[in-house]
Amino acid sequence: MSDARNVVIIGSGPAGLTAAIYTSRATLDPLVLEGEPSSTSDQPGGQLMLTTDVENFPGFPDGIMGPELMMNFKAQAQRFGAEVQTVKASKVDLSERPFKIWVGDPDAAEPTHLAKTVIVSTGAQSIMLELPRENELIGHGLSTCATCDGFFFRDHEIAVVGGGDSALEEASFLSRFASKVTIIHRRDELRASKIMQERAFANPKIEFLWNTEVTGYLGDDKLAGVTTVSTTDGSTGQLDVTGLFIAIGHRPNTSLFEGQLDMKENGYLLTQPGRTATNIPGVFASGDVQDDYYRQAITAAGSGCAAALEAERWLEENDEH
Ligand code: NAP
Repeated sequence: MSDARNVVIIGSGPAGLTAAIYTSRATLDPLVLEGEPSSTSDQPGGQLMLTTDVENFPGFPDGIMGPELMMNFKAQAQRFGAEVQTVKASKVDLSERPFKIWVGDPDAAEPTHLAKTVIVSTGAQSIMLELPRENELIGHGLSTCATCDGFFFRDHEIAVVGGGDSALEEASFLSRFASKVTIIHRRDELRASKIMQERAFANPKIEFLWNTEVTGYLGDDKLAGVTTVSTTDGSTGQLDVTGLFIAIGHRPNTSLFEGQLDMKENGYLLTQPGRTATNIPGVFASGDVQDDYYRQAITAAGSGCAAALEAERWLEENDEH
């Protein structure tokens, strides 16, 4: 077991890199598999790489750009000796210790890394509409987080896509800032809970555009509107909004752990109540991959810290450090 790393952290958003800061300062020489660049939030740095101004992360009174914040997280972890590799884990075997992690060919006979503990921080991604220019407009009128970006739309006319609790919750929050919020839903019936529906119907700033799908984004470097199509008669239209919030659900990045780590019905990793410990001793989960409720950078960072402390204690108690 001498060549097994004390801690391998899979994922490099606020949770993974906070776990790296704490475990490196605890002299555990963590290895971070940060992922590979891609156009989704499933990439080094996670969802904050796809945002612009972050104004709600404590410690930055003037705000900070999402990618800059994540570079700072990484530099802070590396300062204490965390090793960060720009690769994706392709397979894990958590059935026995040391745990086995593959990078590259998942069918290779030998794993790439052995680990005494693993911290899973692979995050989640917002489900997107997959329309052209979506990635370039994120942070420029297009958003997936009302809590993060609502403030920038004071007195603007904006829209929310979706018909579930998230869409209604986002719309209700956004109505504090915007002059009007149009909820664009593809059916004429909401999926959201009755109480959320009643609240939305009673909100004078919220309007509904039923049986409608968004088909495209207007505007050059900033969103200026969306094109739409009716799901009932196919007629097309346009809505002039400066902001569009996509709230059609989230997908946790958990496929690597299927059949090994316990998951909730919605696919998020299941941890012990109030802890980051998973069903496998020595494997911890932190950040959005196990959080379907708060989904904030600061809560992810907090749970990365918790996972690091739990991993450290686990190594001590099991005489492995
Ligand atoms: P959800 O319940 O799965 O709803 C997703 C909504 O997006 C649905 O209305 C769906 O339309 C629509 N949609 C999906 N794909 C679409 C597409 N490609 N184009 C247009 N519309 C699309 O997801 P959620 O609202 O994120 O909620 C997830 C879970 O968290 C739920 O269990 C929810 O109750 C819970 N939640 C609770 C609260 C709360 O209680 N405060 C707040 C947020 C979330 P269809 O209806 O036509 O399928």
